Amino acid sequence: TATGFNNTVSSICCYCGTGCGVRVTPQANGTVTVSGDEQHPANFGRLCSKGRTLGDTTGKAAARLLRPTLRHGKHALPQPASWDDALRTVGGKLAAAIREHGPDSVAFYLSGQLLTEDYYLFNKLARGLVGSNNIDTNSRLCMSSAVSGYKQTLGADAPPACYEDFDHAGCVFIAGANMAYAHPVLFRRLEEAKAANPALKIIVVDPRRTDTASIADLYLPVLPGSDVALFHAMLNVMIWEELIDRDYIAQHTEGFAALRARLREFTPRAASELCGVHEDDIVTAARWFAGSPATLSCYTMGLNQYSNGSDKNAALIHLHLATGHIGKPGAGPFSLTGQPNAMGGREVGGLATVLPGHRDPADAAHRAEVAALWQVPALPTRPGLSAIEMFEAAAEGKIKVLWIACTNPAHSLPDQALVRKALERVECVIVQEAFASSETLAYADIVLPAATWPEKDGSVTNSERRISRVRAALPPPGLAREDWRIVADVARWLAADIAPERGRLFEFVDAATVFAEHAATTAGRDLDYSRLSYAILDAQGPQQWPFDGKVGRTRLYGDGVFPTASGRAQFLDLGWRPPADKVSAHFPIRLTTGRLRDHWHTMSRTALVPGLTRHVEEPQLAMHPRDMQRHRLQAGELVKVRNKRGAIYLPVQADDSLRAGVAFVPMHWGAAALGGQGVNALTSRALDPQSKQPELKLAAVSVEPA
Ligand code: SF4
Repeated sequence: TATGFNNTVSSICCYCGTGCGVRVTPQANGTVTVSGDEQHPANFGRLCSKGRTLGDTTGKAAARLLRPTLRHGKHALPQPASWDDALRTVGGKLAAAIREHGPDSVAFYLSGQLLTEDYYLFNKLARGLVGSNNIDTNSRLCMSSAVSGYKQTLGADAPPACYEDFDHAGCVFIAGANMAYAHPVLFRRLEEAKAANPALKIIVVDPRRTDTASIADLYLPVLPGSDVALFHAMLNVMIWEELIDRDYIAQHTEGFAALRARLREFTPRAASELCGVHEDDIVTAARWFAGSPATLSCYTMGLNQYSNGSDKNAALIHLHLATGHIGKPGAGPFSLTGQPNAMGGREVGGLATVLPGHRDPADAAHRAEVAALWQVPALPTRPGLSAIEMFEAAAEGKIKVLWIACTNPAHSLPDQALVRKALERVECVIVQEAFASSETLAYADIVLPAATWPEKDGSVTNSERRISRVRAALPPPGLAREDWRIVADVARWLAADIAPERGRLFEFVDAATVFAEHAATTAGRDLDYSRLSYAILDAQGPQQWPFDGKVGRTRLYGDGVFPTASGRAQFLDLGWRPPADKVSAHFPIRLTTGRLRDHWHTMSRTALVPGLTRHVEEPQLAMHPRDMQRHRLQAGELVKVRNKRGAIYLPVQADDSLRAGVAFVPMHWGAAALGGQGVNALTSRALDPQSKQPELKLAAVSVEPA
């Protein structure tokens, strides 16, 4: 065709961090058809319900933002604008804020769904031109406790395992992860591993007996937020029963003696009181974990989204270090990323606490390295605001310009009352978005219409450190543009105003040139893929990092050397910290939240597919039947779920897959379905002190008839 979009391309599913390969074929009617890519090592042709129906989300111009808009005053209606007007206005607003209030009056809130190239340029704009570390992302809500868990124990933000390990494991320990819904293709691989090896032991730790638990040989119904007690007690049993690997501990780790002393108080009986798991099951879990020839643990939001999320991650990694179940086939602590490019965002430094190439903004040498690479005099030294801190600062009037890209904070951030106050207080809210259904658009002063899957070229990194190419198969609709191009355009407008010599730093001709500059920043770092290029990815297919110029490394730490100061992995002397929200006589129910099988985040894409909305048609509160009896509630009755932060109204249903005292509301529905706000009206912004990740998974609530 005239646009050049007429061939089938290999790309990546845009939903979860499994990173499945897809083959995408443009159709004459402006849509695409999608099939699984049999050559891609993440999925070998398999797709889940979401990936299979990706084609049905295309060609729907009515669902899309098609042109820039500006509104002149908070109560004015948005007016269509040309790109030149929009870019000039954004550049002018940024320049004015920087001049009048300083660089830290500007903040960027990004997304783990941006491609690596988009993320990289946003970071270069924020730190290399605006001069602020106020750049963070919805990955803060998702993976930051996994990052701090890895860094504190193993020395680097690097998942050591890979998907192939499912085929070699003797025990798979799944904690706080509903893989059957959130990573379905990996779950299928686990099912096949179990079928091929019936001796494989599967342990599932979750307050809900999810579909993932259906495959478990041992299910541990842990109380929300109490996993550290469970993991400590398991390690205590391993020590008591001589199941630890003393040689591995002696040769490759530090800090075990202090932790060992601490663990004495975590007997199975004492831990059972804290975590709600029967002491016999704690002992069995410890024996299976330690006694298997290779144990793989898989974990995600159920560990991360707590104010003690970093401790939970570290306590689970302790089990691997104490047993030597790391760095060998079938073994390792494996954080499964929620979003398609949460990993890439960490690699480019798209978080307040990271610089490109896994560098640290608090380290003067690291700042100097990046400044030299970018050819700017220096990087900002003031610490940046993480996601929740950013919105708290905005609510206090400290943020004048907030640029939000590819995410929907007016639905997805916790404590929505605070978030909405923040969005109303910011003088200029810029929303760069593809879909017209985002609740955040109601707060936008400037709307920048973005291209989305399958209209963009770029790359992503999946959970197993594998970098894949994302390829465009359709032109963007209307005036929508690729995210990296919008950022580069704004940067040149802004540079012309505040630092004309830096405009040339944003002269990129295509996504490949952005990737090349980004890849160069990884040279000499733990993730080094400086010798990787689009040409290699096109010729040889997806590659894992670190990449030596020929091959990527399948798994890490096989030599027992860790990227810490001493070269040894660290045991941390972790005590017991309960989650922030406490149940009380007023708020006696522990409310948790999570994904459904067929929806993604705030449903801007999945709600376009009728087949996906049929799995669960409306949001409901799921409660244990005994709790419903106690509260005199009938199935289907409309209830008010309330706490000190807000209230929502929705029907209640009995669900005996939950522990008594625990209730569940899916995260996907927001303003439209629940009369103003979704479950995040109730969730907590209490932060993990290390990772700054909020406690989205637990809110103490009351439930009463509406
Ligand atoms: Fe897409 Fe994840 Fe499903 Fe794979 S498992 S098809 S990446 S949603």
